[in-house]
Amino acid sequence: MYHFSASHSFGTLVTHVGEDDNPHHTHVTPIYQTSTFNFPDVATGAGIVARTEPGYYYTRLGNPNLDHLARKIATLEGLDLIRLQPETDPDTLVAGQVFTSGMAAITAVLFSHLKAGDTIVAQEAVYSATFTFLKEIAPTLGIQVEWVRDTSPTGWEAAFNRHPSARLAYAETPANPTMAIVDLKAVVEIAHKHGAWLAVDNTFATPYCQRPLTLGADIVVHSTTKFLSGHGALTGGAVVSSHPDYIHKSLYTFVKVLGGIPSPFDSWLANLGLKTFELRMQRHCENAMEVARFLSTHSAVATVHYPGLENDPGYEVAVRQMHAFGGMLSFELNGGMQAGIRLMERVRLATLAVSLGMVDTLIEHPASMTHGPVPRKDRLNQGITDGLVRLSVGIENLPDILADLEQGLM
Ligand code: PLP
Repeated sequence: MYHFSASHSFGTLVTHVGEDDNPHHTHVTPIYQTSTFNFPDVATGAGIVARTEPGYYYTRLGNPNLDHLARKIATLEGLDLIRLQPETDPDTLVAGQVFTSGMAAITAVLFSHLKAGDTIVAQEAVYSATFTFLKEIAPTLGIQVEWVRDTSPTGWEAAFNRHPSARLAYAETPANPTMAIVDLKAVVEIAHKHGAWLAVDNTFATPYCQRPLTLGADIVVHSTTKFLSGHGALTGGAVVSSHPDYIHKSLYTFVKVLGGIPSPFDSWLANLGLKTFELRMQRHCENAMEVARFLSTHSAVATVHYPGLENDPGYEVAVRQMHAFGGMLSFELNGGMQAGIRLMERVRLATLAVSLGMVDTLIEHPASMTHGPVPRKDRLNQGITDGLVRLSVGIENLPDILADLEQGLM
């Protein structure tokens, strides 16, 4: 059993949390690849089902690999809270639940919070499937969406003033793929003043760069498909909250009925990936900073969106709320659509693929690839211009990444 202490830091926690919590003390956590668990006797079984006794009985309702991963991600997201209250059991400060994909996590949060007649105040420039849920599905369920296009605190305040009884605010920062930055402390204040919670998609930043719960946010969602697992071998999602009752009661009810849990094997794989998370993130962030600098001086590039650049509109807020600036960036090419397609055809090292957060560099041109089917007007409203390119900077040797971009942009 791992004991928390105020001095334990990121790399130690990713390596140790929950690793020895198994009856045989195996050095590597075993994979509990089972759908059900045997009851030792009737009374104990009844206690496990009633949750008055510890134990597992059916994987959709709980499994050691899923719990292990959830606990580790919750620890990382709540690290500063745990440091502030080292004597308190971390499970009572932050709690987590894992899912089969980021979208399963996000929709479980939205379903568990919103019912017909409710309003959500949501950032317009969010991951495309989240946008689709809010734009196309939420209204059919009687849920009203108040969109925030101006992501400054003024924009959020105005949205809440139009809908003072909104129950939830939803932000993504940095946003996919525009890299827009939201001032989380300011939005928490606005949401809480109106009695609403703030949920934040922290997929791009990861807890290495930003811990929204420690800035006052109520819920953090993740696609663990990306940096957290890190190797592109699985899809997964996670929800972490500083309201453990929300995770253990309200959200758990939706986990039971929606059933979007990951397999024990995928959870184990994600945990294996997490063990090198800190090292990977250091390299992702260092490489991304250098790539951003390189692109910002290139004649083919009109603008680079990276919160670590001093001239980025999000820089000032990012410096306050982020510990590092992350491995994602986007940039706009002078030549628009054709220049974007040309770059996609010329790169050799960077892989043309959707998804992000893997050890290798991935590149994509939303206008001709992922957002091809989206009406141009909707796409532009979200800041996705014809020449916008998204780059997930990998951990390869920096000169090779730069050389590839250099020859691709020639
Ligand atoms: N949130 C963000 C910011 C994403 O980029 C993605 C996927 O790209 C998701 C959520 C959805 O994650 P998943 O594909 O694991 O469902």
